[in-house]
Amino acid sequence: MSSISRRLQDILATIQAAKLSSQATQSVNLLAVSKAQSALAIREAYAAGQSLFGENYLQEALDKQIQLTDLAIEWHFIGPIQSNKTLLIAQHFSWVHSLDRLKIAQRLNDARPANLAPLQVCIQLNISKEASKAGISKDELIALASAISTLPRLRLRGLMAIPEPTTDANKQRMQFKQVRQCYDELLAKGFDLDTLSIGMSDDFSIAIAEGATIVRIGSALFGARFGAEFSAGK
Ligand SMILES: *Cc1c(COP(=O)(O)O)cnc(C)c1O
Repeated sequence: MSSISRRLQDILATIQAAKLSSQATQSVNLLAVSKAQSALAIREAYAAGQSLFGENYLQEALDKQIQLTDLAIEWHFIGPIQSNKTLLIAQHFSWVHSLDRLKIAQRLNDARPANLAPLQVCIQLNISKEASKAGISKDELIALASAISTLPRLRLRGLMAIPEPTTDANKQRMQFKQVRQCYDELLAKGFDLDTLSIGMSDDFSIAIAEGATIVRIGSALFGARFGAEFSAGK
């Protein structure tokens, strides 16, 4: 068994254990975050049963997609989105997790090819209010969700967040709880959502206990990334 395959089995077992111990009832999908990983590493994970992959950088993702057209991968875009990248993102991904501006939503909607299903999107929420970090603030969330819901070529599925990194498990949990509260508020307002994209390699068990339906895992699956430009949230 390759190390990627072994780590994949470990992660899937940990996801099940986290669900059991927290009595979580939602289904939890694993999104393999393959930024800074080779097409070969993705191929290995796919051979071991993984089919959802997340990428942060458009050109890097397109380069790998070309090498992997023989695989039935579902590609998720999870990085910051510049306006001049919306056309290719709308053409080459099934999901976008990092939507935080109406202008970008409109451009993705306009560019989504008619022969593809609507682009599945999550709004990225910023609960830690770090000025440098992507994501919309709580106060602007409902307005953005309402506007996105009117766009026919996008389908709003839920929320994504990258909480401020902390080694304090309690603080981590409180941050996930805040995202969950915003998600519940949207549900209460009648938005038809099913996706809470929270939890990464170091905190996904806590995220599952707080309601995660997608955990985005990179280093725990593929091993450490090299090169600072590929670090999460930087
Ligand atoms: C890199 C990244 C991840 C995965 O981070 P790990 O700590 O390696 O699991 C998840 N989400 C986003 C948005 C990222 O940029």
